[in-house]
Amino acid sequence: MPELAADGPLSADGPLSAGDFSSWLAEVLAAIRGEGATDVACGSCVACCSSAQFVHIAPDEQDVLAHVPEALLFPAPGLPRGHVLMGYDEHGRCPMLRTDGCSIYEHRPRTCRTYDCRVFPAAGVLPDEPGKAPIATQAARWEFTYASSSDSAEHAAVRAAAAFLRSRHDALGTDLAPATTTQLAVAALEVHRIFVHQHEPSVHDVRVELSSRRSNR
Ligand code: SF4
Repeated sequence: MPELAADGPLSADGPLSAGDFSSWLAEVLAAIRGEGATDVACGSCVACCSSAQFVHIAPDEQDVLAHVPEALLFPAPGLPRGHVLMGYDEHGRCPMLRTDGCSIYEHRPRTCRTYDCRVFPAAGVLPDEPGKAPIATQAARWEFTYASSSDSAEHAAVRAAAAFLRSRHDALGTDLAPATTTQLAVAALEVHRIFVHQHEPSVHDVRVELSSRRSNR
């Protein structure tokens, strides 16, 4: 996966304000725990709806399930009965996407409501898996601001965590090592605190933190 330079490569469309880093980090960590959602200024962007993503829908999302044709859904591998995934077409587009945007916007899945492509510039990585180019282009445009030097240090810790997770992938083990760039970025946010005070924690420390975060989700 490509690494994002500290000052970030910009697409032809130029930078977008990602907001204050530490405020955003607190919000996105709460959203990951299921306590609210972040407010992403998507505008007319549909990159995440066009990037070959499997959209998870949980059994409690009855309103969503009532608005998505059953034929588009299949059981989510590794999850309990009732959890389903919605796939994408041959162009990587969600089947609910139309030329004017999401056709079920008011009823869209929780996955879509909580998705925030700022996790990539936060972790200093860009997704390079097949079909993810639209998200990578958009994610590279975000630029954070910092209210204090401790906020800058917090962002440095997230990037250090991402670099550690990438370089120690094999040592972390297949049970806990992030399998995708998205998982790596989210894991870096979740474990960054132990990188604020330690230059490089041990693999054991990081495994403990990853296990703890996973069980709290
Ligand atoms: S359901 Fe709507 S918001 Fe979610 S990926 Fe599909 S088009 Fe995008």
